[in-house]
Amino acid sequence: MTRQTSKGVCTFCHGEFSKSAMTRHLETCEQRANTEAKAGSRRKAQKIRTFHLVMEGRDLPMYWMHLEITPSTTLAALDRFLRATWLECCGHLSAFEIGGVRYAVDAGIDDGWGMDEKSMRVRLDTVFSPGQTCTYEYDYGTTTELKLRVIAEREAEAKGNAIQVLARNTAPAILCEECGKPATNVCSQCIFDGKGWLCDDCAEEHECGEEMLLPVVNSPRVGMCAYTG
Ligand SMILES: [Zn+2]
Ligand SMILES: [Zn+2]
Ligand SMILES: [Zn+2]
Ligand SMILES: [Zn+2]
Repeated sequence: MTRQTSKGVCTFCHGEFSKSAMTRHLETCEQRANTEAKAGSRRKAQKIRTFHLVMEGRDLPMYWMHLEITPSTTLAALDRFLRATWLECCGHLSAFEIGGVRYAVDAGIDDGWGMDEKSMRVRLDTVFSPGQTCTYEYDYGTTTELKLRVIAEREAEAKGNAIQVLARNTAPAILCEECGKPATNVCSQCIFDGKGWLCDDCAEEHECGEEMLLPVVNSPRVGMCAYTG
């Protein structure tokens, strides 16, 4: 995979910005301000504090997302959101680690490991504050690890959605290692050596066999386990 500037798209104006410019853009996006002003005038303006969260693949920072999330949302709900948008392949376990405390999806079920884990059924405002960072693991075997950071807390109109995507990375262009055309398949075996990105034609000839191939998808879990997007 060749290095490229990671870019992403703003949900409100559909403008494309570099990863490093997105935080500032979201603060000044006129379309976002308009959307929120409209929503506010339609109903009795009820203000709540929301968190602005940015997350990325720990080892694959070209996959990233900005979220706005209400403080009463639980870690369990955030876990479900992450699974649905980015990660779920076969119902693996997952856990957040925040300030040295582990919040696991199966906390309370004694698995004999004797780990001191807390339940994910906690509100975000009891564990998050601006500047807080945390990690998230999906699947303890073939793990996909994310880094999360609370970049701000702001006053916003109370909205229906507990979690809103503010911006998301554009799919990185990955080329077939055999012929240089865009890769559409990745070998779930060779990916561990940083290889195995193939176009459809070259995939047919791949030595590991077709059953090892997974589709190239815009997610930090691309090529892992049985993830197909
Ligand atoms: Zn925008
Ligand atoms: Zn799986
Ligand atoms: Zn090819
Ligand atoms: Zn292979």
